[in-house]
Amino acid sequence: MPGLFDSPVETKKRAEEPRRTGMPSSESGPRPGEHAGQPDRRRPHWTPVWTVLLLLVPCLALTYYYSQDILTGATSSDSLLPDASYAFVLLLVNLDLIGFVILTLLLSRSLIKAYFERRHRLVGSGFRTKLVAAFIGFSMIPTVLLAIVASGLVTKAMDVWFNEQIEQVLKDSQDVARMHHEGHVALAINNARAISLEIYREEWMKRDLRDLLAAGMARKRAEHNLASIEIYSPKLELLTKAVDPAVSASVVGLPIGQLVLQVLEGRQAMTSAQEAQSGRLIRAGVPIASNVKQGEMDGVVVVAAFVPESLLAKMEGISKQYTEYRQIKAMRKPIKVGAYLFVAVITVMILFGATWFGFYVARGITVPIQRLAEATEAIAHGNLDVQIKVKATDEIGDLVASFNRMTEDLRVGKSKIEEANVSLDRRRAYIEAVLATVAAGVLSIDRSGSITTVNPSAERILGVWGDRLRGRPVNEAFKELKLDLFQNAYDRIHADALDTLSLEGVMEVQGKPMTTVLNLSRMRNEAGKDLGFVLVFEDLTELMKAQKVATWKEVAQRIAHEIKNPLTPIQLSAQRLRKKFDEKAPDFNSVFEESTSVIISEVSSLKRMVDEFSKYARMPAPQMARQSLHDVVREVVALYRGAHRDVQFHAELDESLPYMSFDREQINRVFVNLFDNAVQAMDQRGHVRITTSHDVKRRRAVVTVSDDGPGIGPEDMDKLFLPYFTRKRTGTGLGLAIVQRIITDHEGQIRAGRNEPRGAVFTFELPV
Ligand code: ADP
Repeated sequence: MPGLFDSPVETKKRAEEPRRTGMPSSESGPRPGEHAGQPDRRRPHWTPVWTVLLLLVPCLALTYYYSQDILTGATSSDSLLPDASYAFVLLLVNLDLIGFVILTLLLSRSLIKAYFERRHRLVGSGFRTKLVAAFIGFSMIPTVLLAIVASGLVTKAMDVWFNEQIEQVLKDSQDVARMHHEGHVALAINNARAISLEIYREEWMKRDLRDLLAAGMARKRAEHNLASIEIYSPKLELLTKAVDPAVSASVVGLPIGQLVLQVLEGRQAMTSAQEAQSGRLIRAGVPIASNVKQGEMDGVVVVAAFVPESLLAKMEGISKQYTEYRQIKAMRKPIKVGAYLFVAVITVMILFGATWFGFYVARGITVPIQRLAEATEAIAHGNLDVQIKVKATDEIGDLVASFNRMTEDLRVGKSKIEEANVSLDRRRAYIEAVLATVAAGVLSIDRSGSITTVNPSAERILGVWGDRLRGRPVNEAFKELKLDLFQNAYDRIHADALDTLSLEGVMEVQGKPMTTVLNLSRMRNEAGKDLGFVLVFEDLTELMKAQKVATWKEVAQRIAHEIKNPLTPIQLSAQRLRKKFDEKAPDFNSVFEESTSVIISEVSSLKRMVDEFSKYARMPAPQMARQSLHDVVREVVALYRGAHRDVQFHAELDESLPYMSFDREQINRVFVNLFDNAVQAMDQRGHVRITTSHDVKRRRAVVTVSDDGPGIGPEDMDKLFLPYFTRKRTGTGLGLAIVQRIITDHEGQIRAGRNEPRGAVFTFELPV
């Protein structure tokens, strides 16, 4: 049980505990008394308050018991306890008073302590104060009411008990009893006097009249209803005795003692009262005047009257009660004080109980919370070995248990993280090694747009130290190094919200043009969260040079082949012509006609080829102007509809496509070349479909031209756009090469594919 008013040592220790909260707790291990194996060194709670209570409660009980005893006046003989005395009760009352004062002091002390703890805002003090206040508040109202009612009752009882009328009644009763007794005595004297006078008058005291005396006395006894009549001589001899047979002999035979002697000596009437078991015997002795000598006595007459027990007891009871009543009345004040005190002690005990209970309940909550606060502080300072060892029940117990589980989980989690960090470090080292050895340049960009990684190949290709790039914003670094292609790619991937973007182009690096191919990709983690970008690029300058050489070699071979084709018929025609001329053949004229027309036709074919080639080689830079693409489409379609009756042209145009910049003549040529190819592939009969659409997100115009001709064989797909690739007998193989060149010059792309269900489809995109 927690002590409310602990021993000074304990209290001090507790008082210091809250102060530790809020400081970096160095001690996170178990406290004394908390450790399982450690003996509990706390002293038993023989705290002052319990001691006081332990003494006060029996003291109060005794006070109550004795005051009750005194009040009722029932000093019962069967009581095991000593008789209550006024002083003893007073002592008990004083002890109660001392206990009450100490209890009140202790109660106030703890309340004051709680108040100061609250002022210093110690952990749990607020809650405790509220709880204690609530308990006191709720118990205060009924308790104080009860106390007021009880003290009112005490006052009332006292007033009723010590009422003047009661005293008067008791006093009168006592007077009645006294007068009753005096009446008996007076009657006895009167009777004795009357008998004495009779004896004197009849002279029965004469020696010879003794018989008459005895008979007379017997008669007189019966006449006055007396217990006995005895006649004594002056020499104290019993002359005669008349006795009531109804009264017990032992009563009547009670020794008469000094009464006769006192009468003889005093010469006047005397009385005595003697107690017997069955009642009281009242005797009255009266002298008998002498007939012989004036002023002398002849004897003494003793008359006895018997008052029975029942009457006596009542008389005595009345008188005794009156005496006791007067004694108690003298104690009226202390009894009243004692009663008030009793009520006060009960009140304070109830309040104390409420306060103690408040503290007890609050302690059950605040101590674990205090421990929790300390433990949290320790955790905040990185100590994850904290475990709270506080006994708590209910939800607080659950909270402590959860907290302990949490710290345990945290510890396990921390060690797991440490392990993960080790493996992460290993992985990072591995990735860095890969990045260091890879030939391509790699830059990584974080979400905020700063460059985070620059691998050695990137440094080599860009001719710049990584430190000049690392940690800097992309836009700033790219601008400074004039990496336009990179900047272009970075802007476009943002603008078009792309995940990946590949670009090829020439940019100036260290004053020299460099052909670069780059791939910019968005990095995402497993949960799909955006992590930034990775830019991989390669210097293709050398490769491009080699490729160009190879392309031109192929072009040269093709040109040679194309030129060779018309040359053979020309040579054959010339040789045939010379032979016929030498032979002076008769059909020379017709052969001449035939051969010269072959030569002319082949030469014009050659000329056309050379024209086309020079056109391709001398392709001018596009003259850009903002205009409608659909106008161009409609124009070309109208032209082709007129020329090819057996071909159906379908145009599906996206009207949302805005005006865009392009070279009208060049784009016109693109459509003409594509339509020519389609019409030729379908052998002048079939359907050609042209569609446009606006990709708003990517800001591109997408155009497709499809037909339902034979389509393109998979083996030709790669070569379609190369100059001089043709499958046609009279084709130049430059049509699609020119188309591609125009589209690329407009910063667009073109690709060929298979049309469903049959035919070929060419798709090209232009920036809007
Ligand atoms: P040319 O028309 O002089 O042959 P092109 O470069 O225009 O040169 O075309 C190259 C080749 O591509 C053509 O010879 C043809 O085999 C193929 N081709 C082009 N367009 C189509 C098409 N619409 N359908 C099928 N094949 C085509």
